[in-house]
Amino acid sequence: MDLAHLTIEQARNLLKKGEVSPVELVDAVIGRIKAYDNKVNAYITVLEREARDQAVQMEDGIKNVDWDKQPLYGIPLAVKDLICTSGIKTTCGSRILENFVPPYDATVYSALKKAGAIVIGKTNMDEFAMGSSTENSAMGICRNPWNLDRIPGGSSGGAAAALAADMCIGALGSDTGGSIRQPASHCGVVGLKPTYGLVSRFGLVAFASSLDQIGPMTKDVTDAAILLDVIATYDDRDSTSIPREDVDYVETLKDGLDGYTIGVPKEYFIGGIDDEVESCVKKAIELGESLGANIKEISLPHTEYGVAVYYIIAPAEASSNLARYDGVKYGYRHRNAKSLIDMYCETRSTGFGAEVKRRIMLGTYVLSAGYYDAYYKKASQVRTLIKRDFEDAFKDCDVLITPVAPTTAFKIGEKADDPLQMYLTDIFTLPASLAGIPGISLPCGLDRYGMPIGVQILASHLNESKIFRVAYNLERALGFERKSLPVS
Ligand code: GLN
Repeated sequence: MDLAHLTIEQARNLLKKGEVSPVELVDAVIGRIKAYDNKVNAYITVLEREARDQAVQMEDGIKNVDWDKQPLYGIPLAVKDLICTSGIKTTCGSRILENFVPPYDATVYSALKKAGAIVIGKTNMDEFAMGSSTENSAMGICRNPWNLDRIPGGSSGGAAAALAADMCIGALGSDTGGSIRQPASHCGVVGLKPTYGLVSRFGLVAFASSLDQIGPMTKDVTDAAILLDVIATYDDRDSTSIPREDVDYVETLKDGLDGYTIGVPKEYFIGGIDDEVESCVKKAIELGESLGANIKEISLPHTEYGVAVYYIIAPAEASSNLARYDGVKYGYRHRNAKSLIDMYCETRSTGFGAEVKRRIMLGTYVLSAGYYDAYYKKASQVRTLIKRDFEDAFKDCDVLITPVAPTTAFKIGEKADDPLQMYLTDIFTLPASLAGIPGISLPCGLDRYGMPIGVQILASHLNESKIFRVAYNLERALGFERKSLPVS
């Protein structure tokens, strides 16, 4: 058995019984990274020595571990490279932060360490999490292990690819408009965007602060529940943090679907969606019915505005958040400038990539005097309508089931020069982000090219346990097979 293929739950059971050691696990994962990451490019930083040293130190203590307090003891996990890790480079996939070493830990990273996890590396991503394909990384594009000519999705493409190729056991990603769910869907893994506020953003490099959220990316649903249990905590260093309800996510998995109502929003099954994606998602819905759930067609009438609203609000917030990268305080500074203004201009012109600059310009424009009311304010109003659509839907439904993306992973380069085409691929993930509700992506089948298809399950605020329950039941019924990739 290849130890790197294990899930968190499986690895933990073997560690508990003493049948596997933290060093063996780390070595197996490092072995996979050495064999495949030169092709996939899922990692920006691999912490081989640090992870191995930590694993060696953990060998003795394993007999006395309190597994309730340290549920991730000895398990190698990956972290997206926009989560601050003190003493370890955090680049955000950008030249402007290429050599940035944070002096403090993100709350989620502290939580992982406290739970005993071994962080094996920092994963590749679209620069500042802006993108849907991981082609916008200053550290090189990342490839999909299911087919190296295709994108892994984005912006957490590195984490999804690392999981799919067994180059980690579990991972943390971040999702502003789909960046956990869409790459999970394209790489055949599970990705959960929690309710906005459930997981602390302290130490997450900000993109669009009213949307950003950290969440688990894992090989199965049980692992997502295990990781969320560790990272969902109230944090007074994040002003939007909300207290977690007293719920054990792993426990809630075990209940069945009897009496549950699954809503199917008609606006998510429209022209432009690939036939195979549509039929695969519909099959998952039918499976839900055969497991005892009621199916109800519903309407989310403002869905069509999601892309336009998001691509005003997210760039607006980004233009403000990214103003701090001016070459003065930290990060990259252009060296040959003749004046202060020249230094700002040169630093930002050469430090940021094309997509980030496009967003800063769009964001500055929609916030500027004279345009603010027409764009930013209007978008915020329509955002409220989108939120209300979901509130109405959840009066009658426990969860909603939709596709994650209109197509499976496209070819590298296919949409890179056409921002609008790229933005449109986010159509099914953006509304939930704008509403702040949780959503999971669960693998539900393969298309004719052998590429994974994902189904999205959404619930109302703080109802992650409902999502887990439906996802877990569907996962078992679907029997999606995890392969050992890359196949070549
Ligand atoms: N693809 C979306 C964007 O480019 C979402 C990214 C994200 O969730 N970080 O903004």
